[in-house]
Amino acid sequence: MTASLTTPTPEPVLILGAGLMGRLLGWQLAVQGHPVQIRDVGSPEGNQSAARVAAAMLAPLAEAAVTEANVVAMGQYALPRWRELLAQLPEPVYFQQQGTLILWHRQDAGEAHRFSGLLGATRQALPELPTPENVQGARLAELEPAVAQRFHQGIYLPDEGQLDNRQLLQALLAALVQQGVQLHWNTPCTLEQALEWQARHGGWVLDCRGLGAQGDWPIPGPTLRGVRGEVVRLHAPDVTLQRPTRLLHPRYPIYIAPKQDHVFVIGATEIETNDLSPASVRSTLELLSAAYAVHPGFGEARILELNTQCRPTLPDNLPAVHQPAPKVLQINGLYRHGFMISPAVLDAVIEHIHCGTQTLANQLQLSFNTPKPRPVN
Ligand SMILES: Cc1cc2nc3c(=O)[nH]c(=O)nc-3n(C[C@H](O)[C@H](O)[C@H](O)COP(=O)(O)OP(=O)(O)OC[C@H]3O[C@@H](n4cnc5c(N)ncnc54)[C@H](O)[C@@H]3O)c2cc1C
Repeated sequence: MTASLTTPTPEPVLILGAGLMGRLLGWQLAVQGHPVQIRDVGSPEGNQSAARVAAAMLAPLAEAAVTEANVVAMGQYALPRWRELLAQLPEPVYFQQQGTLILWHRQDAGEAHRFSGLLGATRQALPELPTPENVQGARLAELEPAVAQRFHQGIYLPDEGQLDNRQLLQALLAALVQQGVQLHWNTPCTLEQALEWQARHGGWVLDCRGLGAQGDWPIPGPTLRGVRGEVVRLHAPDVTLQRPTRLLHPRYPIYIAPKQDHVFVIGATEIETNDLSPASVRSTLELLSAAYAVHPGFGEARILELNTQCRPTLPDNLPAVHQPAPKVLQINGLYRHGFMISPAVLDAVIEHIHCGTQTLANQLQLSFNTPKPRPVN
């Protein structure tokens, strides 16, 4: 007997949704020998995905103010994994890991105090997190000369990263094609249709439809919701920022994520609705005036795009993997942290598919809801 005869043949996989999670999973499973098919309601550019609109900041410490410690831990796990994953892609993806700068206007010092308190609580739960640095004067000017005249102090969060979401979607598409993955665009698919496919072909079904899975998550119950985010993409040749910058504000906190060639993503609103209509005047004014307050060079910027998408969000605002039937996984609730945590979710799902275990999910406290074994009488 040769060893290859005892190695199980990788099972076929049908993935619903070619946004962030669907592309990552499809690529990695194909690399590991699975025949993979992906169906997406939209186009190869990801025109119906949250992933196409996102700022793609990888900022676990900055997010500590708005999320739970387990999401922060997933974000920390993901940062080195992104480097490994990006190095394997057939096309380059802009990736930067120079930290995040948190700023506030003098009158909003209370917001800074609140932010520091939340960060401190998360660091108590996760002592291995990098240490934030209070910066002022010369140190602030050294880090980010362009803002040092307007702001006198800030908090620097080392090690945080960001990537170019659109280059990533494109590079993942190239990787999927290279691996021979069957790609079906403009092809909406329901969980029911996927189960029919499984009944015919066997193998796994992975539901990565983000908000498109709303009718099916969990079974039954309409608990998956959208949280609308509006973002502006600007070309601002007069502005140079080294790293994502966040402005704390009691009503409209914003971030400015610098991409290559003086392109900036300014975002994002957080509105409890599934409404995908174009950005409102109010939101646009708030985003742009806050950006202008950080750097007057934005006054001469050109507006490239105004975009709206909804973040797929579960009731507790946390990600989850749910197994409604054998070899069927629903992966959802990535909310505003999809880029930040997806390598952790990817590795946890692949571990489950290959080993039937949830070691990483348990370690990172990723909710992984598989049916309990029936008690033996
Ligand atoms: C404004 C905004 C800013 C963001 N900024 C950040 C950030 O800075 N950092 C960060 O980590 N995260 C950010 N996010 C969150 C991140 O984009 C999401 O968490 C992530 O994209 C979710 O990935 P997903 O694969 O679950 O869903 P998506 O990326 O939305 O992909 C879902 C896919 O399913 C497809 N689909 C839907 N219905 C069907 C159907 N019936 N059949 C087949 N296919 C279907 C869609 O076409 C889409 O391609 C942001 C999101 C928004 C909206």
